[in-house]
Amino acid sequence: MYDTKAYSAASKTSPLASATIPRREPTERDVQIEILFCGICHSDLHSVRDEWHDVMPTVYPIVPGHEIVGRVTKVGSAVSKFKPGDLAAVGCMVDSDHTCPQCQADHEQFCPHMALTYNSPDRHGTAPVTYGGYSDSVVVDERFVLRVPEHLDLAGTAPLLCAGITTYSPMRRRQVGPGKKVGVVGLGGLGHMGVKFAHAFGAHTVVLTTSPGKAEDARRLGADEVVVSRNADEMKKHAGSFDFILDTVSANHDINAYLNLLAVDGNLTLVGAPTEPLNVAAFSVIMGCRSLSGSMIGGIAETQEMLDFCGEHNITADVEVIPIQKVNEAYERLLKSDVKYRFCIDMASLKSE
Ligand code: NAP
Ligand code: ZN
Repeated sequence: MYDTKAYSAASKTSPLASATIPRREPTERDVQIEILFCGICHSDLHSVRDEWHDVMPTVYPIVPGHEIVGRVTKVGSAVSKFKPGDLAAVGCMVDSDHTCPQCQADHEQFCPHMALTYNSPDRHGTAPVTYGGYSDSVVVDERFVLRVPEHLDLAGTAPLLCAGITTYSPMRRRQVGPGKKVGVVGLGGLGHMGVKFAHAFGAHTVVLTTSPGKAEDARRLGADEVVVSRNADEMKKHAGSFDFILDTVSANHDINAYLNLLAVDGNLTLVGAPTEPLNVAAFSVIMGCRSLSGSMIGGIAETQEMLDFCGEHNITADVEVIPIQKVNEAYERLLKSDVKYRFCIDMASLKSE
């Protein structure tokens, strides 16, 4: 074991602060990575404040961060895909059983033994739970380490590891493409990646936002139309017209307003994870045989496919790079929908702690 620097929270009301955490020495299959950038996902905030207590209670101290890019510093003897000096990335998962039907179908995210990058029991016994990417270095089984296209901006690449795959996967599953009208609800970290992908896949892309001030950016990011969702008249004009809507909203909201925008047989996929249960009116789905489903990140093979797609099409997140000392301020701004469009921590700033 060795010690490394990190930022952790001691309780659900504590700010994130400098800490020292243990990491395991790389075993046979492990890759040790010096973390260069780590994106800030709204899930980090939900977890730090224990807002998902009923589903996945937070174990403190917590070190969040699951949008990691860095450089390989050491590899175990059985590692074949990486060598020291390579760029590498880690997303939301660090382990699974590799034998269950979900793993065999490349859906490790649904494996009953999947371990999240943070706040999952640490099977190696280094600490009670896994610790995430707000840290100097991380050690991960090579099967959960991804290759990064060399020419992409590294800070803008980090958010692809969660915001990217979480929006790419359901759009691929629902065959978003030319001739489809696609809505993206919420222009934050996930939402802005959703807009970039829907546009890249050739769909007619509409942003549904509560922030009129984001309209110009939405168009620059690839939206064909922008709807201010708090304006009932604007919403009415789109009633019954969408083939697919991706809901990325982090706060409690009226989902019926969006379900009613779906065409016959249209689908709304929920990726946002608000704390309170959503109230679905029966007629919002009965009328038009609409469906409501959910989606969680994506498997490792699909995450690599997404990164390669981003490499080919030069897609990265729009990031505001911050030093780690500004992380608590960034969380407050996330709560005000004041992010353009993903905070990304420059991990070099941790060296001065
Ligand atoms: P984010 O950057 O904070 O973006 C959320 C956006 O939702 C805001 O920018 C805002 O966009 C909109 N919004 C906020 N409050 C709203 C309200 N009351 N009504 C309507 N819209 C509102 O968050 P994120 O990092 O993209 O994450 C979004 C959610 O997805 C979080 O709950 C996160 O935990 C979850 N998530 C799920 C997965 C998964 O696998 N399913 C993966 C990652 C994250 P506008 O200003 O445009 O309205
Ligand atoms: Zn995330």
